[in-house]
Amino acid sequence: MDLKQAKNMDEKYIFSTYQRQPLLLVKGKGSWVWDSYGNKYLDFFSGLAVNNLGNSHVKIVKAIKAQASIIMHTSNIFMTEPMLEVAQILSKHFGGKVFFCNSGAEANEAAIKLARKWGSENGEKYEIITMEESFHGRTLTTITATGQTKYQKGFEPLTPGFKYAKFNDLGSVQKLITRKTCAVMVEPIQGEGGVNIGEISFIKGLREICNGNNLLLIFDEVQTGIGRTGKLFAYEHFGVEPDIMTLAKALGGGLPIGAMLAAPAIAKYFKLGNHASTFGGNPVCCAAAKAVLQTIEKDKLLDNAARLGKILLEKLTGFEGKYKFVKEVRGKGLMIGIELEMKGANIVAQARDKGLLVNCAADKVIRLLPPITVKLSEIKAGVKILDGIFSQIQK
Ligand SMILES: *Cc1c(COP(=O)(O)O)cnc(C)c1O
Repeated sequence: MDLKQAKNMDEKYIFSTYQRQPLLLVKGKGSWVWDSYGNKYLDFFSGLAVNNLGNSHVKIVKAIKAQASIIMHTSNIFMTEPMLEVAQILSKHFGGKVFFCNSGAEANEAAIKLARKWGSENGEKYEIITMEESFHGRTLTTITATGQTKYQKGFEPLTPGFKYAKFNDLGSVQKLITRKTCAVMVEPIQGEGGVNIGEISFIKGLREICNGNNLLLIFDEVQTGIGRTGKLFAYEHFGVEPDIMTLAKALGGGLPIGAMLAAPAIAKYFKLGNHASTFGGNPVCCAAAKAVLQTIEKDKLLDNAARLGKILLEKLTGFEGKYKFVKEVRGKGLMIGIELEMKGANIVAQARDKGLLVNCAADKVIRLLPPITVKLSEIKAGVKILDGIFSQIQK
């Protein structure tokens, strides 16, 4: 299939909900992907923070192939080994129980339901405070949780019971608390909102506010989890633990899987029959997730993400003084944003033409999400391409 044919079929057969890049990708390996013309691209997009171990990592491919030939699906009426093993590994780090689903939105939906269930038995509370510029998914309730009207417009009436505070502003959270509040939900580092990093005092303060008011603290780590920021979970940077945490994106190494984790004392509020998912905990997805988690540990990929993330951030921070249209460079581990004075779509297109895939969040932030397996030479190559583009613009 060539690009023209692909574009025609896309237009004819698929909903036009995505602003596509004009590429038909046919192959991926490590930090690289290839298009239908055989052009090679350095992949600092990673399928939107999904391919954290790079494209088609051998360990993940092997695990998927092996599991697919053993048993592929059973439903949750039965136990299978991969789901138990993944839950055990996650639980070892987080110290809670796991509910498996298939995506980030579903994991957040499960977290919201659990918070409401808990709230219904702890003083008839149901309101949830989320943040402006947040992103929590595209189901009706998760667009409501998402503090950005552009995702909500046209889909009203929204789910009742959500209020929006200012990120990094404890006072604005405090002001919204009522007798009906059951939880505060936050991304420790906002992804779609433009790589906005939670201040330590803010995240710690949220924990204190939740403790003081008997509220649950929910961390959406769908994008920040699984090594992206140089720790397995981003909350580890802040020295506080949430009551509920959600994961998806990179957990399955490219296969769809989501997870909602909660401390046992909270998890027990979901009783027999309270929640379910047909595909949740699918053996093949869980075999992939197990390979992801084991490989991160065995290959010391958190160290790699922290070390190379620091180098990348340092190099890009040099752009702040060098280019007057660069407003701020910020990030943690390999989740980095370059905030511009203007829209970034044009830079994304130029980078693509020069062999680098990046993405633009919140219109003005070039977001870099290299795989956590990335090599120093690849970091340097990516910076060089961006530097070239930026210096052309400055001219
Ligand atoms: C991507 C994302 C989601 C939604 O995940 P889906 O798998 O697309 O449903 C939710 N929260 C955050 C923080 C995300 O980055």
